[in-house]
Amino acid sequence: MVESRREAGAARAQDWGDLSDSDFPDFSELGDIEELGNQPDSLSQNPKKQVNSPESWKRKRRADASTPMEKFHLGCLWVTDLSAQSWCEQQMVYGKELPGFQSEEKTAVLSAGASIHLARELELHDLVNVHISTKEDAWAVKLLNILSMVPILQSGGTIREFPVFGEVEGVFLVGIIDELHYTSKGELELAELKTRKRPMMPLEAQKEKDRFQVSLYKCIFDAMVRGQVTSASLVRHMKLSPERLLGPPVQRHAQQGGFTVKSFGDLLDLTFLSLSLSDLPVIDALKIEYSHQETDSLLGTVMVVFEEEQVRDKLRHHLDYWTGLREPQGVDVKEAWKCRMCDYAAVCTWRQNGGTRMLTEEQHAKKMAK
Ligand code: SF4
Repeated sequence: MVESRREAGAARAQDWGDLSDSDFPDFSELGDIEELGNQPDSLSQNPKKQVNSPESWKRKRRADASTPMEKFHLGCLWVTDLSAQSWCEQQMVYGKELPGFQSEEKTAVLSAGASIHLARELELHDLVNVHISTKEDAWAVKLLNILSMVPILQSGGTIREFPVFGEVEGVFLVGIIDELHYTSKGELELAELKTRKRPMMPLEAQKEKDRFQVSLYKCIFDAMVRGQVTSASLVRHMKLSPERLLGPPVQRHAQQGGFTVKSFGDLLDLTFLSLSLSDLPVIDALKIEYSHQETDSLLGTVMVVFEEEQVRDKLRHHLDYWTGLREPQGVDVKEAWKCRMCDYAAVCTWRQNGGTRMLTEEQHAKKMAK
Protein backbone atom coordinates (compact mmCIF):
# COMPACT_ATOMS: atom_id res chain seq x y z
CA MET A 1 0.00 0.00 0.00
CA VAL A 2 1.25 3.40 -0.92
CA GLU A 3 1.86 5.89 1.86
CA SER A 4 -0.46 8.86 1.92
CA ARG A 5 1.04 11.83 0.14
CA ARG A 6 0.45 15.51 -0.20
CA GLU A 7 -1.90 16.57 -2.90
CA ALA A 8 -0.92 19.43 -5.08
CA GLY A 9 -3.46 21.93 -3.82
CA ALA A 10 -7.00 20.86 -3.11
CA ALA A 11 -9.19 23.85 -3.80
CA ARG A 12 -11.64 25.74 -1.69
CA ALA A 13 -14.07 28.00 -3.46
CA GLN A 14 -13.93 31.54 -2.17
CA ASP A 15 -17.33 32.93 -1.17
CA TRP A 16 -18.81 29.45 -1.17
CA GLY A 17 -20.15 28.02 2.01
CA ASP A 18 -17.97 24.92 1.92
CA LEU A 19 -18.31 24.07 5.57
CA SER A 20 -16.95 20.65 6.21
CA ASP A 21 -19.56 18.28 7.51
CA SER A 22 -17.19 17.63 10.34
CA ASP A 23 -17.26 21.21 11.51
CA PHE A 24 -20.48 20.60 13.30
CA PRO A 25 -21.28 21.06 16.97
CA ASP A 26 -21.25 18.16 19.33
CA PHE A 27 -24.47 19.16 21.07
CA SER A 28 -24.25 16.75 23.93
CA GLU A 29 -21.37 18.51 25.63
CA LEU A 30 -22.90 21.96 25.64
CA GLY A 31 -24.40 21.45 29.04
CA ASP A 32 -23.98 19.34 32.09
CA ILE A 33 -26.04 16.57 30.63
CA GLU A 34 -25.25 13.93 33.21
CA GLU A 35 -27.45 15.86 35.61
CA LEU A 36 -30.17 16.77 33.19
CA GLY A 37 -31.98 13.49 32.93
CA ASN A 38 -33.35 13.85 36.47
CA GLN A 39 -34.57 17.40 36.19
CA PRO A 40 -38.14 18.37 35.42
CA ASP A 41 -38.78 19.95 32.09
CA SER A 42 -41.79 21.37 30.36
CA LEU A 43 -41.92 18.33 28.11
CA SER A 44 -41.66 15.84 30.92
CA GLN A 45 -44.28 17.75 32.91
CA ASN A 46 -46.71 17.18 30.11
CA PRO A 47 -46.04 13.68 28.81
CA LYS A 48 -49.31 13.48 26.88
CA LYS A 49 -47.68 14.42 23.65
CA GLN A 50 -50.08 14.84 20.78
CA VAL A 51 -48.84 15.57 17.33
CA ASN A 52 -51.18 17.11 14.78
CA SER A 53 -52.62 14.51 12.48
CA PRO A 54 -50.99 14.05 9.06
CA GLU A 55 -54.28 15.13 7.51
CA SER A 56 -54.38 18.49 9.29
CA TRP A 57 -50.72 19.01 8.34
CA LYS A 58 -51.48 18.23 4.70
CA ARG A 59 -54.34 20.76 4.76
CA LYS A 60 -52.01 23.38 6.21
CA ARG A 61 -49.36 22.50 3.63
CA ARG A 62 -51.83 22.93 0.79
CA ALA A 63 -52.57 26.42 2.13
CA ASP A 64 -48.82 27.22 2.42
CA ALA A 65 -48.19 25.87 -1.11
CA SER A 66 -44.44 25.39 -0.75
CA THR A 67 -42.51 22.50 0.81
CA PRO A 68 -39.71 23.26 3.33
CA MET A 69 -37.17 22.59 0.57
CA GLU A 70 -38.86 25.26 -1.54
CA LYS A 71 -39.36 27.62 1.38
CA PHE A 72 -35.65 27.54 2.24
CA HIS A 73 -34.69 27.59 -1.48
CA LEU A 74 -32.77 24.33 -1.23
CA GLY A 75 -31.83 22.27 -4.26
CA CYS A 76 -30.08 19.76 -2.03
CA LEU A 77 -29.71 18.79 1.60
CA TRP A 78 -26.42 18.64 3.47
CA VAL A 79 -25.71 15.48 5.40
CA THR A 80 -25.10 17.73 8.41
CA ASP A 81 -28.67 19.06 8.17
CA LEU A 82 -29.99 15.51 8.29
CA SER A 83 -27.67 14.64 11.11
CA ALA A 84 -28.82 17.72 13.07
CA GLN A 85 -32.40 16.74 12.28
CA SER A 86 -31.85 13.38 13.94
CA TRP A 87 -30.84 15.26 17.12
CA CYS A 88 -33.92 17.52 17.14
CA GLU A 89 -35.83 18.27 13.97
CA GLN A 90 -37.43 21.39 15.41
CA GLN A 91 -34.01 22.73 16.44
CA MET A 92 -32.64 22.18 12.96
CA VAL A 93 -35.63 24.08 11.52
CA TYR A 94 -35.08 26.96 13.94
CA GLY A 95 -31.43 27.00 12.85
CA LYS A 96 -32.64 27.72 9.32
CA GLU A 97 -35.41 30.13 10.29
CA LEU A 98 -33.48 32.07 12.92
CA PRO A 99 -29.82 32.08 11.90
CA GLY A 100 -27.53 34.02 14.21
CA PHE A 101 -29.25 32.68 17.30
CA GLN A 102 -26.30 30.43 18.13
CA SER A 103 -24.78 30.85 21.59
CA GLU A 104 -21.20 32.10 21.94
CA GLU A 105 -20.25 28.83 23.60
CA LYS A 106 -21.47 26.77 20.66
CA THR A 107 -19.77 29.10 18.21
CA ALA A 108 -16.48 28.74 20.11
CA VAL A 109 -16.74 24.92 20.13
CA LEU A 110 -17.48 24.98 16.39
CA SER A 111 -14.60 27.25 15.64
CA ALA A 112 -12.12 25.14 17.64
CA GLY A 113 -13.35 22.00 15.88
CA ALA A 114 -13.05 23.66 12.46
CA SER A 115 -9.43 24.68 13.19
CA ILE A 116 -8.50 21.10 14.13
CA HIS A 117 -10.09 19.76 10.94
CA LEU A 118 -8.29 22.34 8.87
CA ALA A 119 -4.96 21.43 10.46
CA ARG A 120 -5.56 17.76 9.68
CA GLU A 121 -6.48 18.58 6.10
CA LEU A 122 -3.30 20.59 5.71
CA GLU A 123 -1.27 17.55 6.82
CA LEU A 124 -2.17 15.92 3.50
CA HIS A 125 -2.49 18.76 1.05
CA ASP A 126 -2.13 22.49 0.63
CA LEU A 127 -5.21 24.59 0.20
CA VAL A 128 -5.64 26.89 -2.73
CA ASN A 129 -8.27 29.62 -2.79
CA VAL A 130 -10.02 29.85 -6.13
CA HIS A 131 -12.19 32.82 -6.96
CA ILE A 132 -15.62 31.81 -8.24
CA SER A 133 -18.32 33.82 -10.00
CA THR A 134 -21.13 31.34 -10.61
CA LYS A 135 -22.66 28.25 -9.02
CA GLU A 136 -21.14 26.25 -11.88
CA ASP A 137 -17.72 27.54 -10.77
CA ALA A 138 -18.47 26.45 -7.21
CA TRP A 139 -19.42 22.96 -8.31
CA ALA A 140 -16.42 22.87 -10.64
CA VAL A 141 -14.14 23.33 -7.63
CA LYS A 142 -15.76 20.34 -5.94
CA LEU A 143 -15.40 18.26 -9.10
CA LEU A 144 -11.73 19.24 -9.47
CA ASN A 145 -11.13 18.13 -5.88
CA ILE A 146 -12.72 14.79 -6.68
CA LEU A 147 -10.61 14.45 -9.84
CA SER A 148 -7.43 15.12 -7.87
CA MET A 149 -8.28 12.70 -5.04
CA VAL A 150 -9.57 9.69 -7.00
CA PRO A 151 -6.10 8.65 -8.28
CA ILE A 152 -4.68 8.89 -4.76
CA LEU A 153 -7.36 6.58 -3.43
CA GLN A 154 -6.91 4.27 -6.41
CA SER A 155 -3.23 3.92 -5.59
CA GLY A 156 -3.93 3.09 -1.94
CA GLY A 157 -3.37 6.54 -0.47
CA THR A 158 -5.28 8.53 2.13
CA ILE A 159 -7.54 11.43 1.21
CA ARG A 160 -9.29 14.01 3.35
CA GLU A 161 -12.32 16.24 2.79
CA PHE A 162 -13.70 14.26 -0.12
CA PRO A 163 -16.91 15.77 -1.58
CA VAL A 164 -19.81 13.38 -2.07
CA PHE A 165 -23.20 13.98 -3.67
CA GLY A 166 -26.07 12.11 -5.18
CA GLU A 167 -29.78 11.45 -5.18
CA VAL A 168 -30.88 9.21 -2.34
CA GLU A 169 -34.57 8.44 -1.81
CA GLY A 170 -35.47 11.10 -4.38
CA VAL A 171 -33.61 14.00 -2.73
CA PHE A 172 -30.17 15.29 -3.68
CA LEU A 173 -27.72 14.99 -0.78
CA VAL A 174 -24.25 16.53 -0.46
CA GLY A 175 -21.53 16.12 2.10
CA ILE A 176 -17.82 16.01 2.71
CA ILE A 177 -16.15 12.87 4.03
CA ASP A 178 -13.45 13.59 6.59
CA GLU A 179 -11.04 10.85 5.59
CA LEU A 180 -10.85 7.72 3.47
CA HIS A 181 -7.97 5.25 3.77
CA TYR A 182 -7.23 1.56 3.52
CA THR A 183 -6.77 -0.59 6.60
CA SER A 184 -3.97 -3.16 7.00
CA LYS A 185 -6.50 -5.75 5.71
CA GLY A 186 -6.97 -3.72 2.54
CA GLU A 187 -10.51 -2.56 3.45
CA LEU A 188 -11.59 0.93 2.48
CA GLU A 189 -12.34 2.70 5.74
CA LEU A 190 -14.13 6.00 6.35
CA ALA A 191 -12.78 7.84 9.39
CA GLU A 192 -14.82 10.65 10.88
CA LEU A 193 -13.21 12.87 13.49
CA LYS A 194 -15.37 14.42 16.19
CA THR A 195 -13.67 16.87 18.50
CA ARG A 196 -15.02 17.47 21.98
CA LYS A 197 -14.63 20.33 24.38
CA ARG A 198 -14.84 18.08 27.40
CA PRO A 199 -12.46 15.12 27.82
CA MET A 200 -15.10 12.41 27.79
CA MET A 201 -16.95 10.27 25.29
CA PRO A 202 -20.41 11.50 24.22
CA LEU A 203 -23.69 10.03 25.38
CA GLU A 204 -25.59 7.51 23.28
CA ALA A 205 -27.84 10.16 21.68
CA GLN A 206 -24.83 11.97 20.23
CA LYS A 207 -23.25 8.72 19.08
CA GLU A 208 -26.51 7.78 17.36
CA LYS A 209 -26.49 11.08 15.48
CA ASP A 210 -22.87 10.48 14.40
CA ARG A 211 -23.60 6.90 13.31
CA PHE A 212 -26.40 8.19 11.11
CA GLN A 213 -24.08 10.80 9.59
CA VAL A 214 -21.33 8.35 8.56
CA SER A 215 -23.90 5.81 7.34
CA LEU A 216 -25.33 8.47 5.01
CA TYR A 217 -21.83 9.17 3.67
CA LYS A 218 -21.47 5.49 2.85
CA CYS A 219 -24.83 5.45 1.03
CA ILE A 220 -23.76 8.41 -1.12
CA PHE A 221 -20.14 7.36 -1.74
CA ASP A 222 -21.14 3.81 -2.66
CA ALA A 223 -23.75 5.12 -5.11
CA MET A 224 -21.08 7.34 -6.70
CA VAL A 225 -18.53 4.58 -7.26
CA ARG A 226 -21.24 2.15 -8.45
CA GLY A 227 -22.19 4.60 -11.20
CA GLN A 228 -25.64 5.23 -9.68
CA VAL A 229 -25.12 9.00 -9.49
CA THR A 230 -25.49 10.69 -12.87
CA SER A 231 -24.42 14.06 -14.16
CA ALA A 232 -28.01 14.62 -15.35
CA SER A 233 -29.26 14.27 -11.79
CA LEU A 234 -26.66 16.75 -10.50
CA VAL A 235 -27.55 19.25 -13.24
CA ARG A 236 -31.29 18.86 -12.65
CA HIS A 237 -31.31 19.11 -8.86
CA MET A 238 -28.78 21.93 -8.63
CA LYS A 239 -30.16 23.76 -11.69
CA LEU A 240 -26.73 23.95 -13.33
CA SER A 241 -25.92 24.89 -16.93
CA PRO A 242 -23.41 22.50 -18.50
CA GLU A 243 -22.81 24.92 -21.38
CA ARG A 244 -21.70 27.75 -19.06
CA LEU A 245 -18.03 28.68 -19.46
CA LEU A 246 -15.98 28.36 -16.30
CA GLY A 247 -14.46 31.53 -14.90
CA PRO A 248 -10.78 32.19 -15.79
CA PRO A 249 -9.52 31.45 -12.21
CA VAL A 250 -11.30 28.07 -12.24
CA GLN A 251 -9.99 27.28 -15.73
CA ARG A 252 -6.46 28.19 -14.58
CA HIS A 253 -6.79 26.01 -11.49
CA ALA A 254 -8.01 23.10 -13.64
CA GLN A 255 -5.06 23.59 -15.99
CA GLN A 256 -2.61 23.49 -13.08
CA GLY A 257 -4.14 20.12 -12.13
CA GLY A 258 -3.60 18.86 -15.68
CA PHE A 259 -7.19 19.23 -16.92
CA THR A 260 -8.02 21.31 -19.95
CA VAL A 261 -11.66 22.30 -19.64
CA LYS A 262 -13.60 25.31 -20.80
CA SER A 263 -17.22 24.70 -19.90
CA PHE A 264 -18.83 23.19 -16.82
CA GLY A 265 -20.11 20.36 -19.04
CA ASP A 266 -16.51 19.47 -20.04
CA LEU A 267 -15.61 19.06 -16.40
CA LEU A 268 -18.78 17.10 -15.64
CA ASP A 269 -17.98 14.60 -18.38
CA LEU A 270 -14.40 14.27 -17.18
CA THR A 271 -15.39 13.71 -13.56
CA PHE A 272 -18.05 11.10 -14.25
CA LEU A 273 -15.75 9.32 -16.69
CA SER A 274 -13.01 9.27 -14.06
CA LEU A 275 -15.39 7.89 -11.43
CA SER A 276 -16.73 5.19 -13.73
CA LEU A 277 -13.23 4.08 -14.80
CA SER A 278 -11.72 4.31 -11.34
CA ASP A 279 -13.00 0.94 -10.14
CA LEU A 280 -12.96 2.24 -6.58
CA PRO A 281 -14.45 -0.12 -3.99
CA VAL A 282 -17.42 0.68 -1.79
CA ILE A 283 -16.69 1.63 1.81
CA ASP A 284 -16.06 -1.45 3.95
CA ALA A 285 -15.73 0.07 7.40
CA LEU A 286 -17.04 3.14 9.22
CA LYS A 287 -15.03 4.53 12.11
CA ILE A 288 -15.70 7.54 14.34
CA GLU A 289 -12.88 8.92 16.46
CA TYR A 290 -13.61 11.25 19.37
CA SER A 291 -10.78 13.51 20.45
CA HIS A 292 -10.37 16.21 23.07
CA GLN A 293 -10.06 19.68 21.53
CA GLU A 294 -7.64 21.14 24.02
CA THR A 295 -5.13 18.28 24.29
CA ASP A 296 -5.78 16.61 20.93
CA SER A 297 -5.83 13.28 22.76
CA LEU A 298 -7.98 10.42 21.53
CA LEU A 299 -10.96 9.80 23.82
CA GLY A 300 -12.23 6.72 22.05
CA THR A 301 -13.14 5.08 18.76
CA VAL A 302 -16.50 3.70 17.66
CA MET A 303 -16.82 1.25 14.80
CA VAL A 304 -20.23 1.60 13.15
CA VAL A 305 -22.21 -1.35 11.86
CA PHE A 306 -23.88 -0.22 8.65
CA GLU A 307 -27.56 -1.17 8.76
CA GLU A 308 -28.83 -0.01 5.42
CA GLU A 309 -32.52 -0.67 5.97
CA GLN A 310 -32.65 1.26 9.26
CA VAL A 311 -30.62 4.12 7.79
CA ARG A 312 -32.93 4.42 4.79
CA ASP A 313 -36.05 4.19 6.99
CA LYS A 314 -34.75 7.02 9.13
CA LEU A 315 -33.75 9.04 6.09
CA ARG A 316 -37.22 8.62 4.56
CA HIS A 317 -38.79 9.80 7.82
CA HIS A 318 -36.57 12.90 7.78
CA LEU A 319 -37.28 13.58 4.12
CA ASP A 320 -41.03 13.44 4.75
CA TYR A 321 -40.58 16.75 6.56
CA TRP A 322 -38.50 18.30 3.77
CA THR A 323 -40.92 17.25 1.06
CA GLY A 324 -43.89 18.62 2.95
CA LEU A 325 -45.53 15.37 4.01
CA ARG A 326 -45.49 16.20 7.71
CA GLU A 327 -44.74 19.04 10.12
CA PRO A 328 -41.47 19.28 12.08
CA GLN A 329 -41.29 17.59 15.45
CA GLY A 330 -39.30 18.44 18.57
CA VAL A 331 -37.75 15.94 20.92
CA ASP A 332 -39.63 13.18 22.64
CA VAL A 333 -40.37 13.29 26.37
CA LYS A 334 -37.51 10.94 27.18
CA GLU A 335 -35.10 13.28 25.39
CA ALA A 336 -36.41 16.48 26.99
CA TRP A 337 -32.95 17.00 28.52
CA LYS A 338 -31.80 18.15 25.08
CA CYS A 339 -33.96 21.28 25.46
CA ARG A 340 -31.77 22.48 28.30
CA MET A 341 -28.77 22.97 26.04
CA CYS A 342 -30.81 24.32 23.13
CA ASP A 343 -30.35 27.89 21.91
CA TYR A 344 -34.04 28.02 20.93
CA ALA A 345 -35.53 26.81 24.21
CA ALA A 346 -36.97 30.24 25.01
CA VAL A 347 -38.87 30.49 21.73
CA CYS A 348 -39.62 26.84 21.01
CA THR A 349 -43.36 26.29 20.60
CA TRP A 350 -42.92 22.51 20.72
CA ARG A 351 -41.38 22.77 24.17
CA GLN A 352 -43.80 25.45 25.37
CA ASN A 353 -46.72 23.28 24.36
CA GLY A 354 -45.29 20.32 26.22
CA GLY A 355 -44.36 18.34 23.17
CA THR A 356 -46.90 19.48 20.62
CA ARG A 357 -46.54 22.06 17.91
CA MET A 358 -50.02 23.43 18.29
CA LEU A 359 -52.82 22.73 20.69
CA THR A 360 -56.20 21.84 19.29
CA GLU A 361 -58.92 24.40 19.96
CA GLU A 362 -60.43 22.10 22.59
CA GLN A 363 -57.09 21.65 24.33
CA HIS A 364 -56.46 25.37 24.15
CA ALA A 365 -59.85 26.13 25.73
CA LYS A 366 -59.15 23.63 28.54
CA LYS A 367 -55.75 25.18 29.16
CA MET A 368 -57.23 28.67 29.31
CA ALA A 369 -59.97 27.52 31.71
CA LYS A 370 -57.40 26.23 34.25
S1 SF4 B 1 -36.28 23.40 22.91
FE1 SF4 B 1 -36.20 21.16 22.74
S2 SF4 B 1 -37.82 20.60 21.28
FE2 SF4 B 1 -37.42 22.82 21.05
S3 SF4 B 1 -35.93 22.98 19.43
FE3 SF4 B 1 -34.77 22.91 21.32
S4 SF4 B 1 -34.27 20.75 21.66
FE4 SF4 B 1 -35.89 20.84 20.13
